Amino acid sequence: MSKLRFKAVAAASNRKPVEVEKPLKKTSEYYAEKVFNRSAMAKFLSKDTYKKLMDAIDNGKTVDRNIAEHVAAGMRMWALENGVTHYTHWFHPLTEGSAEKHDAFVEHSGQGGMIEEFSGKLLAQQEPDASSFPSGGLRNTFEARGYSAWDAASPAFIIGDTLCIPTIFISYTGEALDYKTPLLRSLSAVDKAATAVVQYFNKDVKKVHSNLGWEQEYFLVDEDLYAARPDLVLTGRTLMGHESAKNQQLEDHYFGAIPERVLKFMEELEYEAYALGIPLKTRHNEVAPNQFELAPIYEECNLAVDHNVLIMSVMDKVARRHSFRILFHEKPFKGINGSGKHNNWSLGTDTGINLLSPGKDQVENLRFITFIVNILAAVYKNNGMLKASISSATNAHRLGANEAPPAIISVFLGTEVSDILDKFESSSVKDAIVVDNKKQISLGVGQIPEILLDNTDRNRTSPFAFTGNRFEFRAVGSSANCASAMTALNASVAEQLVEFKKEVDTLIKAGKSKEEALYEVLKKYIKYSRSIRFNGNGYSDEWKVEAAKRGLDCETSVPVIFDTYTTAQSVKTFENVLSEVELHARNEVKWEMYTKKIQIESRVLGDLALNHIIPVAINYQSLLITNVAKLKEISDKYKELGAEQLRLIEKVSSHVNAINAKVHEMIDARKAANAIENEREKAVAYHDSVAPYLDGIRYHIDKLELIVDNEMWPLAKYRELLFIR
Ligand code: ADP
Ligand code: MG
Repeated sequence: MSKLRFKAVAAASNRKPVEVEKPLKKTSEYYAEKVFNRSAMAKFLSKDTYKKLMDAIDNGKTVDRNIAEHVAAGMRMWALENGVTHYTHWFHPLTEGSAEKHDAFVEHSGQGGMIEEFSGKLLAQQEPDASSFPSGGLRNTFEARGYSAWDAASPAFIIGDTLCIPTIFISYTGEALDYKTPLLRSLSAVDKAATAVVQYFNKDVKKVHSNLGWEQEYFLVDEDLYAARPDLVLTGRTLMGHESAKNQQLEDHYFGAIPERVLKFMEELEYEAYALGIPLKTRHNEVAPNQFELAPIYEECNLAVDHNVLIMSVMDKVARRHSFRILFHEKPFKGINGSGKHNNWSLGTDTGINLLSPGKDQVENLRFITFIVNILAAVYKNNGMLKASISSATNAHRLGANEAPPAIISVFLGTEVSDILDKFESSSVKDAIVVDNKKQISLGVGQIPEILLDNTDRNRTSPFAFTGNRFEFRAVGSSANCASAMTALNASVAEQLVEFKKEVDTLIKAGKSKEEALYEVLKKYIKYSRSIRFNGNGYSDEWKVEAAKRGLDCETSVPVIFDTYTTAQSVKTFENVLSEVELHARNEVKWEMYTKKIQIESRVLGDLALNHIIPVAINYQSLLITNVAKLKEISDKYKELGAEQLRLIEKVSSHVNAINAKVHEMIDARKAANAIENEREKAVAYHDSVAPYLDGIRYHIDKLELIVDNEMWPLAKYRELLFIR
């Protein structure tokens, strides 16, 4: 057996669980101890500063220089007490993950020594030399200035010896260069729009926030086996590998006992997460072998997004301590399930109402229907753009495969809510009934005062499903920053609610009662958005045909899907969130990223095919040839005696020739694509004429894996990679 593979398999199977030093405290006693949260602020800030900062966080008031100065002083004191020596602005550029540049607190004291310094100015704003972050042409390298600016709404936290301050990242001219800026703008847009609509029902509501509870799926692979797979190391997924005879068909992994080694990893991860104030709640095995999931209790969307980015980097670090590598790629292994990041999303008011929860009486239920119907209309109107928000080179492997939502956005409501909307649509305004002197709307289901939702009515094949008191946006990729999907969704819903309010108010001005007006517009929207509702099997081929008939966006080419970001409709939807210039710039970045991903995969596969696979196949073939030659020496019947050898010799040749030919064709296709200047056209060329070779070449390599002597095969096989002992 290949030396590296042999050593890796041996190391992995001998690995023992790593014991974790557990804190002897209850979770509640160390929870958020590394976060400058409200209780730390109350302790380290003056009453006045605390009050002003809370006002800024809760009511969107600006933080002036004076407050920043006081907050910085308190933050520095808290940080020093926790052994911190450095600080960094922590932001999410348009690449994956987070960016940090650490600076020490130390400054010259002026008396030959050093003092710890941290001013309000350093807290509030920095100018990282960020010319190498993607900007889509918004920031020429000669004008490399980008600013990071403090996001007071997401509390600072400590990693190791460094104080991390969540920030936005914008260009010198104010354009967003990150994920957080448009997210914050979309949250503010949906707050305004939803608050105005809630006023029809609850006058006391002053603020609506968006909630997010993400579920993060991931794979773990032993570090030695990972190192024995250059494709995993360089691209995050296996570009070749025949399916293991046993994988997930027995369904014995899902919710099964968590392997001891993995459990230790999870324990340590949870400890770190709790200290960072990330409220992890759920951990379990997923469907595929070596696949797991983790989910916190939902939080306000901006914070939840930050926590997801943060936990991904903590997971990576902790996994290494347990001799694992973590895979966030959407499809690391062919033939078994890939990973997603379900985004559970809802809208809640400052008075404690979940706007997606059915209520106790008919007024509350009308409010519920108002929000559900507007969300339907928003998702329908923007179904192509919402798909763009979750599309990437890596997620493309997962969508449309028989395990994840198709590359078509539809909404699952469940039979109960669907029935309610159908009845609502066909009932007439005469059905409105009077209760407590208030004219109320009969939902056509007047005999059912409360909508009781059956939570078991779940459809796992839908990309966007109602699950009782929230929507679950399931099409989001496991490696993605949640902000992209959440920005698109919140912006869509905000725009729709503004439109809705305008229409209702126009009818009211024309003399209709509020109820009649609501009723009329909602009925119209139910009709309008009917095409987006689909309760059937999203994995079926019939649905693809049906969806196309309904006019839903069925495009599957990722670079082309991005076009929907800049349609007139999308520009309108993003009006207060991303300018047209920003939308175009982001697409440039997306196309470039797409191209690079496929380019890297193509290069890695080409190299492995030529340097690892073909030589080994030829070596094996030489053995067979020697064998046949020797048979010939001892017998005239060598053709019969060596029938299988001769067949294999031919097979190996045919696969080797096919691989060789395809690799060279792929290189030519790459050259042709590389010559294209326009980023969109280049990405399209990579999609249309380079990416197909990845599967084409793999096919022959996987066939060879079945033929070539197991001892000689150079790369760790699926059965070795996938079953943690
Ligand atoms: P599932 O059964 O879908 O796997 P999980 O318990 O794994 O459910 O995850 C559900 C996620 O949805 C959790 O993060 C949970 O906190 C979150 N969630 C629950 N209610 C809401 C809500 N009203 N709004 C947003 N997220 C919610
Ligand atoms: Mg779920």
